Amino acid sequence: MLFETKVIEIIQRTPDVKSFRFERPQGFSYLPGQYVVLDLSDKSIQMKKPFTLSSSPTEDFLEITKKLTGHPFSNALTELKSGDRVVINGPYGKFTIQEEYNNIGMLSGGIGITPLRSIIKYSIDKKISCNIILIYSNRYETDIAFKDELELIQKENPNIKVIDTITKPELTWKGTTGRINAEMIQRYIPDYRKRIFFTCGPMEMVNSMVSLLKKLEVPEEQIKREIFPSDK
Ligand SMILES: Cc1cc2nc3c(=O)[nH]c(=O)nc-3n(C[C@H](O)[C@H](O)[C@H](O)COP(=O)(O)OP(=O)(O)OC[C@H]3O[C@@H](n4cnc5c(N)ncnc54)[C@H](O)[C@@H]3O)c2cc1C
Repeated sequence: MLFETKVIEIIQRTPDVKSFRFERPQGFSYLPGQYVVLDLSDKSIQMKKPFTLSSSPTEDFLEITKKLTGHPFSNALTELKSGDRVVINGPYGKFTIQEEYNNIGMLSGGIGITPLRSIIKYSIDKKISCNIILIYSNRYETDIAFKDELELIQKENPNIKVIDTITKPELTWKGTTGRINAEMIQRYIPDYRKRIFFTCGPMEMVNSMVSLLKKLEVPEEQIKREIFPSDK
């Protein structure tokens, strides 16, 4: 379904990631982790792209969070100001939860955090008794989107655990380093065989997470995936 809405806030998340908040149109309902097609077309040019809602259905705004690429759509988005009107089409997608899972593992890289942030926020706001362990990989510590919020969430919710891993750490980084691998999954998610996995990010990363999980004998039907094809 098509909805018209307007920008209410823009938040810088990392040096090259921004969140764009929109008024939640009346009658727009969605599940955590779903996406919309954002239409920035005008008379001269067609511009439509899919974006996961990084907001949770429990929040009274809609939010998308975009990796800024310097490419045409990205540039059109960064030119938006509070009050500007846009059209969204949706919601779409099956990378979501309702209340069906008790134990979830999440494997994500970079901007692939967006649906997972939505699902985590939904799960705590709805007080769903679901244990979630997220391993989130980024190149630099400064690339970690939603860092402060995720830290606070895990402090306040013993059911949520977030492990950041950094592939190009500064000397000051005290946490986990390197890409997500089988050893990391075994160490941080020891009961991985009984969890439903959500993995999201660029195609190469998602494919590699799926093969890691398969090598660890996690059944195919326990692996949910969302690919962001042009996350460069
Ligand atoms: C279901 C789904 C959910 C998604 N959710 C998100 C999300 O939450 N956040 C997010 O950031 N992305 C998300 N994406 C990806 C998003 O739709 C865009 O494809 C992506 O952000 C790239 O946008 P862009 O601004 O670079 O697009 P465009 O400007 O259209 O460019 C698309 C790609 O074309 C190439 N390109 C274009 N122009 C040039 C140029 N001048 N020189 C070189 N290469 C060029 C680049 O590879 C570029 O990435 C999602 C995708 C899907 C399918």
